[in-house]
Order: sequence, then structure tokens, then C-alpha cells
Amino acid sequence: MSKARHYYGFDIGGTKIELACYDDELRLVRQWRIPTPTRDLGQFQDAVVSLVHQADAHVGGQGHIGIGLPGIADPVTGCHLSANVPALTNQNLSALLIERLQRPIAIGNDCQCFALSEANGGAAAEAPTMFGLILGTGMGGGYCVGQRLIRGSNGILGDVGHVPVPAVTLERYRLPVLDCPCGLRGCIERYASGSGISAIHAHFTGQQLDAVQIVGLARDGDTAARYSLDVHVAVLAHGIATLVLHLDPHAIVLGGGLSKLDELYTRLPPLIATHLFAGPRPPPILRPLFGDASGTRGAAILAQQSHRG
Ligand SMILES: [Zn+2]
Repeated sequence: MSKARHYYGFDIGGTKIELACYDDELRLVRQWRIPTPTRDLGQFQDAVVSLVHQADAHVGGQGHIGIGLPGIADPVTGCHLSANVPALTNQNLSALLIERLQRPIAIGNDCQCFALSEANGGAAAEAPTMFGLILGTGMGGGYCVGQRLIRGSNGILGDVGHVPVPAVTLERYRLPVLDCPCGLRGCIERYASGSGISAIHAHFTGQQLDAVQIVGLARDGDTAARYSLDVHVAVLAHGIATLVLHLDPHAIVLGGGLSKLDELYTRLPPLIATHLFAGPRPPPILRPLFGDASGTRGAAILAQQSHRG
């Protein structure tokens, strides 16, 4: 039996389950990837348990498990309130897996795992407090103080995608109040995420294009595409300014597909400043260091921190 400690980080998405095994220094040992059984809870559990057993066999011992998955869990019942894996809805995944695997399991959402990864050895490793903000199909984040997550009473701290865009911003850019799948209206996710760029462009032009196409058009000098991106960055900047007034992080690290949009790193800071009163400086907006690996890496750090206490 190996005495070395190992940490297994699970990144569970709607199409694939990824497990990466890390050593105590967070060096990647090995990773596995399988399609996600999304409909059947039994098959889903079997798949996770089988991956854990493969990893155990590889390291010659029992690793500590951390899981990152989209959606949130009810803080009282532990049941998932929303997930892109329908089989997990209203299930207490942690309790089910602890029974099967006979060891503690740390669970966080994908955005929180991203933040944790970038706070520990990542782009914000030196920042006393940081916010990791994912701008992908959706928008969400996680807040770390002293390299540890602060999750709040409901575990939703950082779920900023469902803060409404200020009415003054909607009016200024003549944007409609869009419905959000969360049940609320006017959530910033509908405007400031990657799919938000599409929604803004569709509103102004009637064209259904994705963010990559719109960015491409803008770089080729297309005036309408440029305007859509101008409105997008303005809405995003106002959202981040609100975040700064609430949490005042020392750094913000961007993740998700829009983190590859170079313009954001130069355009956001001065725009954020226009929404702050004189005195405070906007935090640096940083590129992620770990990119797609942040999901498993952050989940492994979750396991490491909960194991060490
Ligand atoms: Zn919403």
C-alpha cells in the first residue's frame, strides 16, 4: 500500500466525466475521461465508482476525492437543485457516493473549482482575495480568501450570473429585459456570457451568430459586430464594478470561452472604473493559468483542503 497522498479531482459535465489524479504537490499523475451517463442514476454512480477504483489501483491506495459539477446543492438536504446531468437532480450525490466508496467526498460547483485552482498556484496565487469569473455559455464564479473558497450560507456565493443588469444600463443601450432559465428576468448572464454576445447581436441585427463568429466579424471591421461587442463589454464592466463594490477582490481571473478574448483584458479595467466613485482602483483582470484543467485541479484542491482541514 502506497503511503503517498493522492487527490482525485472529478470534473463532471453534461457530456463527459473527467477524473485527474494529482499528488500532494498538485502534480498531475494520470487522468481518465468517459462519456457521462446523464439519465440513469445507477449507471452514473457505477461510472464514478469504477473510475475511482481504476485510480486506486494506479496509485496503490485510496485517494481523497473532490468533485466539481455544475448547479448547486441544497445546504440542508445536500440534494442538487439544478444540474446538466438530469439523473442527479434532487439526489444527494455526496451521500450516495460516500456509501459506495467508504471515504469522505468534497463537492463544489464548477465555477468554485475554477476559482480555487487559480487561487492556488494559478494566476491569482499571490492575491490575498480573488474572484474567478467564468464567462462561457453561462456566467458564474467563486470567491477565495487566503486561497480558500468562501461559499456562504447557501453555497451560492459567486453565482453572479443571476444578478440583474441595472435598469440604467438596459435603458442606455436599449436592451430588452431577457428571460433567464433560472426563472428570473434580466439576469446579467443573458447579456455578459458568450451566449449573451449572441443575444445582444441578435437583438440589434436579427442575425443568429455565435460569439466566435461575431468576434471574427468585428475584427474584420464589421460595424454592427463591433457595436455588439462594445455593448457586451459595457454590460460586463458594470457587472464587475458591482462585484468590486460587494467583494473588493485583489484580482479577478477570467475563465470559460470568453477568457480567450484578448480585448477584455485591456478594455474592462477603464470601463469598470467609470462605475466606481473616485478613489478605488479596479482589480487587475487576469488570464487563467490552467484553462480547461481547472475543473479537475480545483476539485482535487477541494479534496486536499478538506482533508487537511
Ligand atoms: Zn438567471
